[in-house]
Amino acid sequence: MVILLHIFDPQMVTIIDGKSLAQKLRRKIKEEVSKYLDSGNRAPHLAAILVGEDGASRTYVASKERDCDFVGFDSTVHRLPVDTSENELLDLIDSINSNDNIDGLIVQLPLPKHMDTSKVTDAIAPKIDVDGFHPVNVGRLTKNEDTYISATPFGIIMMLEEYGIETIGKHCVVIGRSNIVGRPMSILMSRGGYPGDSTVTICHRNTENLISHTSVADIVIVAVGIPHFLKGDMVKKGAVVIDVGITRVDADNAKGYELRGDADFNSLVNKCTAITPVPGGVGPMTRYGLLHNTLKSYKRKLNL
Ligand code: NAD
Repeated sequence: MVILLHIFDPQMVTIIDGKSLAQKLRRKIKEEVSKYLDSGNRAPHLAAILVGEDGASRTYVASKERDCDFVGFDSTVHRLPVDTSENELLDLIDSINSNDNIDGLIVQLPLPKHMDTSKVTDAIAPKIDVDGFHPVNVGRLTKNEDTYISATPFGIIMMLEEYGIETIGKHCVVIGRSNIVGRPMSILMSRGGYPGDSTVTICHRNTENLISHTSVADIVIVAVGIPHFLKGDMVKKGAVVIDVGITRVDADNAKGYELRGDADFNSLVNKCTAITPVPGGVGPMTRYGLLHNTLKSYKRKLNL
């Protein structure tokens, strides 16, 4: 009797290098900005508001400032004390909304508990809402109209496109239904056109028998915030895994922590055709997404 074994070839695995891709795309933005500056235009300007002292939020805002610096954007960061009232924050947002020289405004989340996150993000004028959280921009996304797609889903779409990952007719399982990742991701993957046109299943904390969904998926996008949640035995051979998760776990290094994804890379890597690492996968593409949206707003304002 001849037994045929199908051995999955690990050589076929593509490690999606979000860090290099984001760097390449950032350089393109830098070149474009330099042309606008040479023609006498002002620089694009991103404003950020950070309330409180959360360590991860401070790190994210600092990296956004560095990114702006790299591509030639101006940036302003408003650092407010944790006991700032919601009204004070809303007044600041109002004043930025009416400043014609600001192209993008983001409020770094999470906000302190005494603030209503939706009320605050809804106060940002849709035309400078480069995080794409305002209901007007979310509505446009669901209607497949031109909008600011929030940075993480946008970065993932760019990644799929740049790596030529087939999505049309594929079964995509999105795990997590947050407003900033899971839900918009599911809308984008099911829209008509490429990347998209997938058949999408969205799973969440109350999904029964999760593995029955993930194990038949061609593409799994995992955004739950639980380190190493998705394991190799939960996906089929040849799946594409996009790992959105970033959790800081204590580590014996200079920083005192390391970043963990939601995917258990080691158990998945030899089963997948493509997978994103953490760090160096979705994170840098999210940062790129914000620059992209700010440039888009700038070009709209200046009719470029
Ligand atoms: P969230 O906490 O708002 O949502 C988590 C989702 O996971 C929820 O919809 C919940 O229903 C689902 N979930 C929780 N437990 C589950 C389970 N056992 N089975 C199935 N689903 C479950 O989180 P979020 O804001 O979407 O972020 C998710 C992760 O992605 C976090 O680690 C966050 O830090 C990270 N993140 C990374 C980037 C990036 O740039 N890479 C951007 C945004 C968020």
